[in-house]
Amino acid sequence: MSFPETLAIASGNPGKLREIERICADWPVRWLTAEVPGLPAWPEVEEIHDTYLENALLKARTVAEALGVPAIADDSGIEVDALGGAPGHRSARYAGEEASDEQNLRELIRAIAGVPTSGRTARYRCVTAVAWPDGSKVHAEGICEGSLATKPRGGGGFGYDPIFVPAGWYRTMAELTPEEKDRVSHRGRAFRAVGELLRNPR
Ligand code: IMP
Repeated sequence: MSFPETLAIASGNPGKLREIERICADWPVRWLTAEVPGLPAWPEVEEIHDTYLENALLKARTVAEALGVPAIADDSGIEVDALGGAPGHRSARYAGEEASDEQNLRELIRAIAGVPTSGRTARYRCVTAVAWPDGSKVHAEGICEGSLATKPRGGGGFGYDPIFVPAGWYRTMAELTPEEKDRVSHRGRAFRAVGELLRNPR
């Protein structure tokens, strides 16, 4: 599959949307987001599956079918080794179904409070999927390894960024510039990988 003329971004998360628009700024497509006026109602998608890939495909397919144009979505999360990989694909709902980013962050800080520095390894994972109304699809995964600080630092990014320190950095993800975050982030890696698949179709 190659770049479609029009591509809808199936996400209502403003933090993600900002990053996707930045990372994919050079894609030769016309972008549609829920904010574009005059579109049919943008469907709400419940993440019912247990894998990032199934949830990403579900989000992309639902929007592609509703709008009749290809759609791209990501499903992502943070995996903390000391918590057996939790919260993982449940990261957005870690502190409860309707929890805010702030509540989820507090809950994770509480959960790792007794874990020594050497045991606070974690990774962000992102799976991005493009779905076409005819059922075609492509997908790719990006991972960013790192560790967790116990006190939040920085005002950039979103979600768990104030305590996530990418491997090889001293600053938290929320202390990186947007360009630095995109270079190392799970989302940057996943969207660049899917961009390569669309640029060089087999
Ligand atoms: P979902 O992909 O909509 O299920 O949500 C992913 C959740 O994982 C977000 O709500 C955040 O809690 C977390 N997450 C994913 N990517 C990032 C990131 O780049 N920074 C901070 N938190 C993230």
